Amino acid sequence: MTCADCLESLGSFVDGELPADETALIEEHLRTCDDCARAHRRLVDTSSQVKAALMRYQAPDVLKARIRASLADPAGEFAAQRPRVPLYRNISWGRTIAAAAIVAVASSALTLAITDRRPHESPVEQQVLASHIRSLIPGHLTDVASNDQHNVKPWFNGRVNMSPDVPRLDSLGYPLVGGRVDYIDGRNVAVVVYTRRQHVINVFWWPEPSAADLAPATSSVNGYHVIRARRNGVNVWLVSDLNTQELENFARMVMPAR
Ligand SMILES: [Zn+2]
Repeated sequence: MTCADCLESLGSFVDGELPADETALIEEHLRTCDDCARAHRRLVDTSSQVKAALMRYQAPDVLKARIRASLADPAGEFAAQRPRVPLYRNISWGRTIAAAAIVAVASSALTLAITDRRPHESPVEQQVLASHIRSLIPGHLTDVASNDQHNVKPWFNGRVNMSPDVPRLDSLGYPLVGGRVDYIDGRNVAVVVYTRRQHVINVFWWPEPSAADLAPATSSVNGYHVIRARRNGVNVWLVSDLNTQELENFARMVMPAR
């Protein structure tokens, strides 16, 4: 087995989806190849971190649904009949977090081999996606946590060289969560964080004064949706696993019409 074959199958291997003979070949290769073993460890680590982060955001809605169900059904029959299906049983984590793996191996020699397989993604898109995935790890979502735009917008003063729009959209079902500064394309950028149900939406802002306007464009990578636009020298990128229709509605409200 070559390293390329091993890396190709690593996601399915982590998900336990490979036939026994292929599993044995990969186990054998991981015992003898330090690079692939390192990639495997990082994939497993990142997978559990991302799962933990998503569990955290999923939990409140699951809890609310259970409470609603028990209120609507005092005898508890609904709860009793409800199939106990684990939330994440059918999700292929190894593959779902392939984007996270790109982040995880960024410091290793494997980076080139893996990023080379995604020629359609620009380096900026990779960085924005990586930032989004990293933000889902507990404790990484916001530097300033507030649902009040009068706390969040001034917080960026002196931290980044522009002032992002921070509209209040609670009444439309997109509560503000806060903001943070992240590092994209060689500079500090403002990130304004919203949620929609259990989905996190990161909105990245940074100036690029001499660049031409770009109409909003949507792309999808590994279940994450990205909308980017540039208007009057300001880049705005949105990332979320929210469905594209709701994300595009949201984009129309936050992207600058200036
Ligand atoms: Zn190898």
